[in-house]
Amino acid sequence: MKGKREKGGTRAQPRANPGGAAEAPTAADGEHAATPTAADPLPIRHLEFLGGLATAGGWRPPGDLPEVAFSGRSNVGKSSLLNKLVRRKAFARVSKTPGRTREINFFSVNQAFVLVDLPGYGFARVSKERKSEWGGLIEGYLRENPRLRGVVQLLDARHEPTDDDLSMFSLLGDIGVPTLVVMTKIDKLSAKERSAQLTALARRCGVDEDQVIPCSAVTGEGRDDLAASLAALLAAPPDDEG
Ligand code: GDP
Repeated sequence: MKGKREKGGTRAQPRANPGGAAEAPTAADGEHAATPTAADPLPIRHLEFLGGLATAGGWRPPGDLPEVAFSGRSNVGKSSLLNKLVRRKAFARVSKTPGRTREINFFSVNQAFVLVDLPGYGFARVSKERKSEWGGLIEGYLRENPRLRGVVQLLDARHEPTDDDLSMFSLLGDIGVPTLVVMTKIDKLSAKERSAQLTALARRCGVDEDQVIPCSAVTGEGRDDLAASLAALLAAPPDDEG
């Protein structure tokens, strides 16, 4: 599997200025639309679990809100980061309940966009058959989805990207969907380790270093940076090829 993408499609969106230069996604009814402030580029006013997609071609949320999907291998810290992002302690717990761990779970945020929690991939004790089932579900969702405005791809700051991570980058490049890259668990690295690892991970995955957002669900570092990038992604015109 190649680490470099052949197409330019997975470039991260420019990260918005901390301080809130990014425009907010607006909700039609206004009631739950949240206006970004200098303090919080993505204030969360309303959250709702919409449902899960268990098989390719199955249920999808009604309506046409834009979707942003979060992807990463299991244990990368996706649930913890999502909880931090929406400032709820147990928001992502629903995706970890029995029966839901293998689903794609959809949440409405501020009734302005849909946050999509993709099932964690790469779990070691899973049969090949099951793996390809999951792969089909995730790939089917990503490929056939005009509502998809971006993907947030998570990588563990401490580890080399796995083959599954690299396959994911390759797929995202092939689809050409805007991608934000988050380095999770950054608190586990020293300042020196972190800059070396940032360089290494970015190179390995074929993205620019300044397109990688270091985050920690423990210290909260990176939450607002990620929130601002998401707001910018959602404010960009849907068919913007960048
Ligand atoms: P998921 O399987 O990707 O949803 O990962 P979880 O959010 O459940 O996290 C997996 C493990 O990593 C848990 O033990 C978390 O407490 C830990 N973890 C998650 N995020 C961080 C982080 O930012 N820093 C540290 N030190 N640990 C984290």
